[in-house]
Amino acid sequence: MQSLVLACSEHPAQLLPEATAYAKGATVDIPRIYNISEAAHRIHNPLTPEKLATLGAALRMPENARLLDLGSGSGEMLCTWARDHRISGTGIDMSRLFAAQAKLRAEELGVEDRVAFIHGDAAGYVADAKVDVACCVGATWIGGGVEGTIALLARSLRPGGVILIGEPYWLRLPPTEHVAKGCRANAIADFMLLPDLLAAFGSLGYDVVEMVLADQDSWDRYEAAKWLTMRRWLEENSDDDFAADVRAELTSAPERYVRYAREYLGWGVFALMAR
Ligand code: SAH
Repeated sequence: MQSLVLACSEHPAQLLPEATAYAKGATVDIPRIYNISEAAHRIHNPLTPEKLATLGAALRMPENARLLDLGSGSGEMLCTWARDHRISGTGIDMSRLFAAQAKLRAEELGVEDRVAFIHGDAAGYVADAKVDVACCVGATWIGGGVEGTIALLARSLRPGGVILIGEPYWLRLPPTEHVAKGCRANAIADFMLLPDLLAAFGSLGYDVVEMVLADQDSWDRYEAAKWLTMRRWLEENSDDDFAADVRAELTSAPERYVRYAREYLGWGVFALMAR
């Protein structure tokens, strides 16, 4: 299992200034349900591999572009873009499992010399050297919301660089707070309609220069893939203390997903450049 200390000793140039701050992150992890239900996911968001590749091409990154990815999951974005576009980058993720999987994926794709993965809390993380593309794809709580995450990423970004934000939006406004909760939002106010989200990026002083959006089929790849993973985990771990929680999730998740999120929730990655 990857430890922070190991990551630091392997990539001293990228990590040294953060080593002390992130040592405490080595013991943290995300809630267990995600490590179980998303254990087989390479992409922990509603984009398919094809859509992720479309995004990588759409950004027209120069060779050797440097990326930072806060909440990098199992590293699929950095690893495949390192393979396909010769970028380099650092990813930080709080899931011990996902961070370890990211490292394995880098080795599998032969890009371990171009990408580094740190297990730790990305809140407040600022890169030592400025990057060309600063990303937070599906984890904007890291900066306390979209605005705070953009501000955090901007601290690591070179002038003229690109910020990538992956974020949900409402396809149509939920008629009640109950429906919003069914989408696993805390409230309707958690997300905006797509035009309002793009307008919000504008009012923060950013041009939206590219975007790739999920659709219902790509959402299904993210959500429905969890069900088989949970079912198999249950078959292999029936004695586990956590089995009742996973059983409850598997029993309720499919119907809740098609009733709520599949109908109401959109998701996209937005590329932003400061005006
Ligand atoms: N960007 C990845 C993962 C998105 S899922 C992808 O698109 O595949 C959200 C990720 O955020 C999970 O991998 C989770 O482990 C991570 N995460 C949650 N809180 C975090 C935090 N405080 N610091 C770093 N990573 C965090």
